[in-house]
Amino acid sequence: MVVSGYHAWLVSLIFLTAAPLMAGAACLYRARRGNYRRGWIALAVAMLLWGGGMAGNLYSGLLLDSWSGVGTFSMLLFILYGVPLILVLAVPEREHWLVRLIDAALALGLGYLFFRHTYAFAAMAEANPENLASLRSMFDIENLFIALFALIRFHTTADPAQRRFFGSFAIYAVLYLATAAFINHLHSDVYYGHWPDIAIGLPFLMLGGLALDDASEGDEASRASVSFEQAVRVGGPLMLPAMLLVVSAVLVRSHPVHAIAGCAAAILGYGFRNIFVQVRSLNAHDQLERLTLVDALTGLANRRQFDASLRREWARAHRTGEGLALLMIDVDHFKLLNDSFGHPVGDRRLHDVAQALAACATRASDIVARYGGEEFVAILPAVTPAQAMLVAETMRTAVARLGLRSPAPLGHVTVSVGIGHIDHVADGDVGALIAAADAALYEAKQGGRNRTMAHPAAPE
Ligand code: GH3
Ligand code: MG
Ligand code: MG
Repeated sequence: MVVSGYHAWLVSLIFLTAAPLMAGAACLYRARRGNYRRGWIALAVAMLLWGGGMAGNLYSGLLLDSWSGVGTFSMLLFILYGVPLILVLAVPEREHWLVRLIDAALALGLGYLFFRHTYAFAAMAEANPENLASLRSMFDIENLFIALFALIRFHTTADPAQRRFFGSFAIYAVLYLATAAFINHLHSDVYYGHWPDIAIGLPFLMLGGLALDDASEGDEASRASVSFEQAVRVGGPLMLPAMLLVVSAVLVRSHPVHAIAGCAAAILGYGFRNIFVQVRSLNAHDQLERLTLVDALTGLANRRQFDASLRREWARAHRTGEGLALLMIDVDHFKLLNDSFGHPVGDRRLHDVAQALAACATRASDIVARYGGEEFVAILPAVTPAQAMLVAETMRTAVARLGLRSPAPLGHVTVSVGIGHIDHVADGDVGALIAAADAALYEAKQGGRNRTMAHPAAPE
């Protein structure tokens, strides 16, 4: 560069076109190796845009046989260079396609506003230094956003391949931010062909080197706190609309309609995106909650829900002074059925028995649950022993009437029922009621099965 004398600018431009293109090729090479492909491809596209911008400079320089400043088209490519980078920083992995569509639309909107901005200001830049300052501040804003977010993503990513990617990206982005600020603010009056041109190329050379160095992807360095990580995951998508708002604000004097449209798109896009993500997360939450309370095989309340319900009904009975009954229902000779017909048939029988039992619990306050294995339970609040016996017998006969084939002596599936009942709940815990129902069930089994026995709970 120093030795090339008169054509130093030409050497500079060739170097500055080649550097990002080589970095882009290195990123593509890295993407081909398959680890965090989309990130490396986004970097490659960005490099291509930047290299394209510089190639435009080179072309116009060659046409005029001298360097005469950055053309508008090149300026646009330099600014668009940030869009794939912002996309890869802002859009989380594994999002629903609708969310990605909104993000893509926002990124396109951002690109369009950049385009508007560049044309509006670059055309007038020569005449008015204020416009040139506005252009430079746009570059700074974009570079600062990118560097900050690359650092944050690096700091909050657990996956080794992504960590490696965001680490390389962050090094590059910080270097780029520094050199761009230096060139734009301290060195902007000097045309190409001087030593600082090497500095401009440095970030690209560095990125190329980082992309080619895929030695270790396993460093699990100290990571940010979980809450910071979550904040970044949830807040990351704000980056696109925030950029859109900033660019709209810069455009508000020259292109008020575009600026208003940009603001509206930012707010609505982010709003719709949030609504969609929230609805999905609420659904997932409901589903998870259901899973924690419902038995998957029978659809009845599971043991966890039963335990909570029994404690609640016990406390209620304590307050109201009403009686409380607990039925323990156990399928007779179920092991025999399983052994003869196989587990899948056993499962179907359990499901059918569960439906029959649930259908007999007619009051809204009755709760039927799977206690575990082939045992079921029913909580009957505010009942007398006679009413509890009636429900228990209804359940027992309902199961027998299903006529489900079984190798048991009667030839069909039957259940034995033990009733625990308590008239007045005093202080103490539900253990007494469970023990009473258990003892009654044991008696029903001893008595020959397919029958109901009752036991009063021992006084506290
Ligand atoms: P009893 O009349 O004395 O209750 O005899 P039983 O054979 O029903 O009782 P036992 O406790 O010996 O056997 C219970 C069987 O229930 C053993 C186990 O393989 C089966 N079982 C438990 N949970 C499931 C399940 O989810 N699906 C199926 N298919 N079988 C189950
Ligand atoms: Mg059992
Ligand atoms: Mg059994």
